[in-house]
Parts: sequence; structure tokens; C-alpha cells
Amino acid sequence: MKTLNDFNFKNKKALIRVDFNVPLNDEFKVTDDTRIRSAKPTIIKILEDGGSCILMSHLGRPKGVDETFSLKHIVDKVEDILGVEVKFVSDCIGEEATTAAKNLQPGQILLLENLRFHQEETAGDEAFSKALSSLGDVYVNDAFGTAHRAHASTTIIAQFFPDNKCFGYLLAQEIESIDKVMKTGEKPVCAILGGAKVSSKITIIDNILDKIDHLIIGGGMTFTFIKAQGGHIGNSLVEEDKLSLANEILEKAKAKNVQVHLPVDAIIADAFSNDAHTNTCDVYNIPDGWMGLDIGPNTEALFAQVIKESKTILWNGPLGVFEMPNFAKGTIALGHAISEATKEGAFSLVGGGDSVAAVKQFGFEDKVSYVSTGGGAMLESLEGKTLPGIAAILD
Ligand code: AMP
Repeated sequence: MKTLNDFNFKNKKALIRVDFNVPLNDEFKVTDDTRIRSAKPTIIKILEDGGSCILMSHLGRPKGVDETFSLKHIVDKVEDILGVEVKFVSDCIGEEATTAAKNLQPGQILLLENLRFHQEETAGDEAFSKALSSLGDVYVNDAFGTAHRAHASTTIIAQFFPDNKCFGYLLAQEIESIDKVMKTGEKPVCAILGGAKVSSKITIIDNILDKIDHLIIGGGMTFTFIKAQGGHIGNSLVEEDKLSLANEILEKAKAKNVQVHLPVDAIIADAFSNDAHTNTCDVYNIPDGWMGLDIGPNTEALFAQVIKESKTILWNGPLGVFEMPNFAKGTIALGHAISEATKEGAFSLVGGGDSVAAVKQFGFEDKVSYVSTGGGAMLESLEGKTLPGIAAILD
């Protein structure tokens, strides 16, 4: 796997695909700069080598040129974080970009305007990719968040740098973290899958059953399993058309010697609201008119024990409706258990969508081994897919 460390960037122009798709508020201020901070080590290494950086990214989903999605809004933030002046050009290809790139001196940074102002970006257009490629000497992909897309700047462009392409530190770290769970994970390996639906996690479950020893199931998808097992789930979330699939998963897990841990109790509510009346009950006997919105205390203890005994931990999806404080307790307890196991030497990876939000919200970000920066890319990796952006560098 070629990374930055295989190159010396002295007097080289690095064309770096970063993921600066950051959230902006109404005043166009960055509200979460994690993705910019995550790209810093790569940029600094190149500058310290004596090279220069040309940064390219998308922001949002503009349809053509649209000021609202201009990367000019983040220039100040990027300068603050990197501590280096950032030049900006109002188009990612064309004369202005070409001249600015040509004049770029070692130690300098150029940020190109939103790639998606050209529809050729998402179309993976070859001529557009070639035009972008002409700006730099070495192509560096450091954007895990878009590595699952075969776009011009993430994948197609790599062919124009047959010997001069590599992963940035962030992307390399994402790949290593996933491999630590999926390929080289120290046993016992435990996966915790929560979230709303079985249907959105089925490909992941299928792929990971060969790699794990324990599967903890929580969140809304619990109830499809419990109902499939003959439980009474009241008004809890259920996918009626996935009941037999749920049983098949349990059978498959058994055949592969994976221990499945389902909740034993639930925090139930008489409405889908933080103000609803609540109670605790056996997960197999939820009264009509009530729904399970979090795991109960006995389940918390049961799951914590499994996690304590695990050496490798993967967490995807909250265990309850964590957005409502009254149903966040199970997810917080899980965060604590994973933090404790990590402190004792386990490797823990949190990835994919809402679990990342939960980890940040409840302050566990620095207490787990790695928090992935890519939602969809992480999910596709867990599904066992080779991401096009990664394959293009490995080719
Ligand atoms: P996902 O995107 O599939 O990971 O699902 C995350 C969503 O699942 C969050 O918005 C949670 O509120 C929701 N969720 C978790 N537990 C439950 C539950 N017991 N009932 C309904 N929704 C849930």
C-alpha cells in the first residue's frame, strides 16, 4: 500500500483529494471542522518535505455553479487550522487554476473551487479528470468520505498518475482500522450493530459473520429478531417482511459459531416522544400500545460483559433512540463499556452514520481507538466491497 511516506515531495506539487464537505450554518461558518483537521497531517508532511499542496474537494450537492456551496466560505477556517495562508481559485480547472497551480511555490497551498460545480465530477468524466490531473505532479487521495464513489477526482484521475499516486495519512488510517477488525483483529472479535432497520444492515451482517465471535444486536432492528423468535413486541419498530430473514441470520450465525446477543429487556414508551410515559420490561413481552425505544438495564450489563471480554470491537448504529435523552442511556452505557475495554487494550472502531454522531455527542471520541470519517464509505467497507477510490490507488 503506497502512502505519503513512500514519496519525498521536495519541489513537487501534490494534488490532494481531501474531504472538506463540512457543515455550514446560515452565515456560512463551519460548524464541525473535523474533516479539515483530519487532513492536516497529510498537508503538513508535504509542506515539510518542501512541496506544495493543491487541495480539491466537493461541498454539498450543488446543481452547477452555486455560491451557496462555494469553498471560498471555508478558506479562513482552513488557514486557521493549518496555520498557513491558503490561496483560492474560483474554478477547479481552466486558465485561472492552471496559472495558480503553475505559480505555486514550495510551502504554499492552493484550494480549488468546488469540484461538483462541474457535473463531470460525479459523472467520472475522463477529460475533466485529465484536466484536473494536469495541475499536480503527485496524486494523493485522502478523502475516505468519497472513496466509495467512482468520481473524477476520487477514482478516474488516478490513471493519469501511474507511478505517482498514493494514499494520504487519513485514508491509510481508515483502511488500516477496517483491516484491524476485518482481517487481523485479535480474538474475540465483537461487532455491535444497532440502528433502525435490519434491511439496511443485512449485507454487513452477511459479510462479518465469518470474521467475528460475538454479534450484539440493538436498536430498532432488535424487534424484528424478537418477533421472529416468537416474542410480543407491542408497537415497536418491525420489518414484517424481514422476519424469516432474521431467523436465517440467527441460524447462519449459529452454524458459524458466532454468539448472538439480543437484548433481554427494553425501555418502553407509550409514544415515540421524549415526553412519553416510560417503563422497563422483558423484551419478549412488550404490552400493546407500547414500543421499545432503548435497551433495559439487564441488557446494558449483559452487553458490557461481552464487550469487556472482547479484544476487537466494531460499533455501528445506536442501541436506542439516542436523539431523545430519555432513550439515550443504553447507547451511552455501550460507549462507556467500549471506552473501558479500549483502556484495557482492546482495539475499537466506531463507524458509519449515527454511531459516530452518538460517540461525538456523548464525549467518547477520544476514548475509542478510531472513529471513522466516512459514513457510506465505512458501511460499504463493512459490506466487504472494494471501494473504487481505494482500488484506483492500489491498481
Ligand atoms: P441507522 O441509520 O440505521 O444506524 O439508524 C439510526 C436511527 O435508529 C437513529 O435515528 C435512532 O433513533 C434509531 N433507533 C434506534 N433504536 C430505535 C428503536 N428502538 N426504535 C426506533 N428507532 C430506533
